[in-house]
Amino acid sequence: MGKALIIGCGGVASVAIHKCVQNSEVFEEICIASRTKSKCDKLKIKLDGGKTKITTAQVDANNVEELIALIEEVKPDIVMNFALPYQDLTIMDACLETKTHYMDTANYEPEDTAKFEYKWQWDYRERFEKAGITALLGSGFDPGVTGVFSAHALKYYFDEIEYIDILDCNAGDHGYPFATNFNPEINIREVSANGRYWENGKWIETKPMEIKRVYNFPEIGKIDMYLLYHEELESLAKNIPGLKRIRFFMTFGQSYLTHLKCLENVGMTSIEPIEFEGKQIIPLQFLKAVLPDPASLGPRTKGKTNIGCIFKGKKDGNDKTYYVYNVCDHEECNKEVGSQAVSYTTGVPAMIGAAMILTGKWNKPGVYNIEEFDPDPFMEALNKWGLPWQEDFDPELVDSEPPKPST
Ligand code: NDP
Repeated sequence: MGKALIIGCGGVASVAIHKCVQNSEVFEEICIASRTKSKCDKLKIKLDGGKTKITTAQVDANNVEELIALIEEVKPDIVMNFALPYQDLTIMDACLETKTHYMDTANYEPEDTAKFEYKWQWDYRERFEKAGITALLGSGFDPGVTGVFSAHALKYYFDEIEYIDILDCNAGDHGYPFATNFNPEINIREVSANGRYWENGKWIETKPMEIKRVYNFPEIGKIDMYLLYHEELESLAKNIPGLKRIRFFMTFGQSYLTHLKCLENVGMTSIEPIEFEGKQIIPLQFLKAVLPDPASLGPRTKGKTNIGCIFKGKKDGNDKTYYVYNVCDHEECNKEVGSQAVSYTTGVPAMIGAAMILTGKWNKPGVYNIEEFDPDPFMEALNKWGLPWQEDFDPELVDSEPPKPST
């Protein structure tokens, strides 16, 4: 049915590529292109032999001309972006120039400022509309499935959603004292930034990890979680009418937090360049180089993830609560695709998002966040492709326990 050009070949891309190959009816052909071509070739050797034709290429996704040349050579129906958030705009520019659909899993962030916002990508909306192509933004799990869950809740269970709490729990253990489950640079930029949530039309800023709650996650148990800013808060606050408050919580173990604090205290998480042996280096990029590669954690990680959304609002004049979530097992993911569950829960929705566009189920020229599409075919595909969801109509709420002081 279609051909995809996949940019990036790290932890998330590897899962998405395995899934594209499983879904060969839709992904008849894929080209895997990244900065380090040997990673693409290694994956091709592992996955060749099925129905999907696989080719590989080298590309610097910071270079629009190189991207345009590659797209013109490969002639894909869609470009799937699994490089870093810094490359979103160059890849969107190349898609515009070649009139090719686009999707990603993380919103644009300038490399020299730890500030991610949708405004840069939303600015492309009119140009994509005019070119007759679609950009699907944030088709991972969070952002991604959390937006689909929100559209599903609104479509079936609420007249008005007033409160959303997004809960991201990773109870996996990889055995290292400190490692991140996706790109360390992006992960540390995200968790060391100030927290932020949206209430009554305003953003409320908190210190990093200032707000802590304990939640009893289904199939996992009680874990500490902390309020963070996360990019889907921005789009959902805009796209869910009548919303009064939206927050995002992520779980962290004590060892992770202690290491992070120590690394911060000694300046290792800084993105300000420093001079080292006559060369400019960025401490956080150096730290990334010495930390375990998230793509190598698959065989070591045990335990489960649970990511979902709790909604509160009104239906037919009555109060209503609804929790929808997915539980994923690290070891099962590794058995299936050789990756841990954080890459898995991002790579599967990415494949599904691209399939929605390639099959024409989602067909809307312009730039859209995932909650702006019909959630039905995506929700069905989650059950089919390895991320089944569960529902609870009387869930424990985040604030049912009194707040505990942050450590
Ligand atoms: P990795 O670091 O494992 O992979 C990134 C890949 O992009 C690597 O293959 C890297 O190449 C390649 N790359 C980086 N810069 C360039 C460039 N200039 N040109 C070409 N290729 C480049 O990251 P992850 O797989 O962990 O994460 C990928 C994306 O997924 C990130 O944007 C992350 O924020 C997002 N994400 C989204 C989630 C969600 O739920 N929505 C959850 C987790 C992650 P090389 O091998 O040479 O370094």
